Amino acid sequence: MRLQHYLNGAWQDGAGEGAVLFDPTNGEELARTSGDGLDLSAALDFARREGGSALRALSYAERGAMLVRIGEVLTANRDRYYEISLKNSGSTQADAAFDVDGGIGTVKYYAGLSRKLGDARYLMEPGADRLGKDENFLTAHILTPRPGVAVHINAFNFPSWGLWEKAAVALLSGVAVFAKPAAATAWLSHEMVKDVIDADILPKGALSLLCAGGRELMGLVQPGDVVAFTGSADTAAKLKGHPNIIASGVPFNVEADSLNAAILGPDAGPDSDEFQAMIKEVHRELTLKAGQKCTATRRIMIAAEQMDAVQAALVERLGKTAVGDPRDGSVRMGPLVNKAQQSAAWDGLAALKREAKSVYGGNEAFELVGADADTGAFFPLTLLRCDDPEGARAVHSVEVFGPVATLMPYTDPAQAFYLAARGEGSLVTSVYTADDGFAAQAALNMAAWHGRLVLVDGRVAKSNPGHGTVMPQSVHGGPGRAGGGEELGGPRGLAFYHQRTAVWGHSDRLEALRGNAAAYPG
Ligand code: NAP
Repeated sequence: MRLQHYLNGAWQDGAGEGAVLFDPTNGEELARTSGDGLDLSAALDFARREGGSALRALSYAERGAMLVRIGEVLTANRDRYYEISLKNSGSTQADAAFDVDGGIGTVKYYAGLSRKLGDARYLMEPGADRLGKDENFLTAHILTPRPGVAVHINAFNFPSWGLWEKAAVALLSGVAVFAKPAAATAWLSHEMVKDVIDADILPKGALSLLCAGGRELMGLVQPGDVVAFTGSADTAAKLKGHPNIIASGVPFNVEADSLNAAILGPDAGPDSDEFQAMIKEVHRELTLKAGQKCTATRRIMIAAEQMDAVQAALVERLGKTAVGDPRDGSVRMGPLVNKAQQSAAWDGLAALKREAKSVYGGNEAFELVGADADTGAFFPLTLLRCDDPEGARAVHSVEVFGPVATLMPYTDPAQAFYLAARGEGSLVTSVYTADDGFAAQAALNMAAWHGRLVLVDGRVAKSNPGHGTVMPQSVHGGPGRAGGGEELGGPRGLAFYHQRTAVWGHSDRLEALRGNAAAYPG
């Protein structure tokens, strides 16, 4: 099978052999895709000219209606997407649901949000401020859709969610989307886009797809465009530092990796709801998508006196987890996405093991259900323990993109918060405590280093969708190492795809502008 690209409103193939997409469970070749020799400059122009202008002519409600239809088409084909996810990403049912349903859910959420924005074609912030003595000469702020194209570059681990969590927000904003999934898992993105294109929902040029290549994209963006990137910090730095990105002033959002944490409060003994919730959640974070989630828990901070109890509980739970072919109903965790990721994970683990000892897994001898270690890209479920987390460096900086996490002790709350901050900026930390004082202290001490904090106690443990779950209502992203970006967050996500402009004028004129605007943020 050959994956084509949807550019200039038509399916096109690239030149040459191209990249290979594998089944990571058995190493079988599934498809190939090449982006060589394509005229990306023309494709971007087409998206700007045709797609952007057609979308901007519509209201938020009309664009929302398109999202409703996209959600319906994707829902109707959900089983096929699960099958592709199983084959190309080695996904269990739970892994596939996380990516596929996460993407569909986000489209539906933004479709729903469009109802609040109604027939407007731009947004306006509430209020207006006086600029001087004249009480009628005021400034207010409007947000209008950007006139260019949104280039979306995504990581291999979310071919569905990554595609749609960006596309839904851009399309609702009135900005044409140029999506570039990671080649290794582009099959699912390809099928989803193909289904949406075949359903004839969007104007031509509103959604383009490039399955591979795109190395010249950063040189082709122009003022008016935006770039939203998700992937490793190394690639982010390279692309964001491209001279044309700097010269053109194109907004560039980065969602990168981070060393997310779980902190168990000193109050939470082994019989507490909070202790149990943390064990369950850390186990889920390690196993779901075989730890290949940017939000996955990598560091587990425990009051020193509780370390052994937590270690024992986790080791017991990990010991009951079957790893192997996701087609086998007993298997809880499948392979990594390919051999290259497997090899990178072994390198990362070796770096961590210089500072931490393995208390579960961590070596090549592990049991596989229904799969062959030589052909598959499997990795052992691994729990490490680092007893000197203040002196250590790698445990706070090396992201092993797989099922690996490190236990570390703290002696007082201040040290726990300090250790969390050693990640130099994270997407999410969860705090498990029944002590309201500790929870408040944790929130205020750690917020500036995080995009999201989850405060778990017995009252909300069951309602928590999961430490690693990104919900469209709340912002996703994180400072520093996590990329410094921000996506989603309900209406907040729209701001990136709009230009905020201060308008000075007579209060009557500003009120007239307000009369046709949707309120931002609502
Ligand atoms: P990656 O190697 O950085 O690649 C990310 C994307 O960039 C891919 O689509 C890749 O395309 C593309 N790319 C690479 N070089 C490029 C260039 N010169 N020009 C244009 N595009 C280029 O990351 P990955 O291995 O796919 O993903 C794993 C990483 O993503 C992890 O570190 C994870 O933490 C992070 N991640 C973060 C989030 C978040 O929301 N914060 C979510 C998911 C993953 P090709 O595939 O064609 O090389």
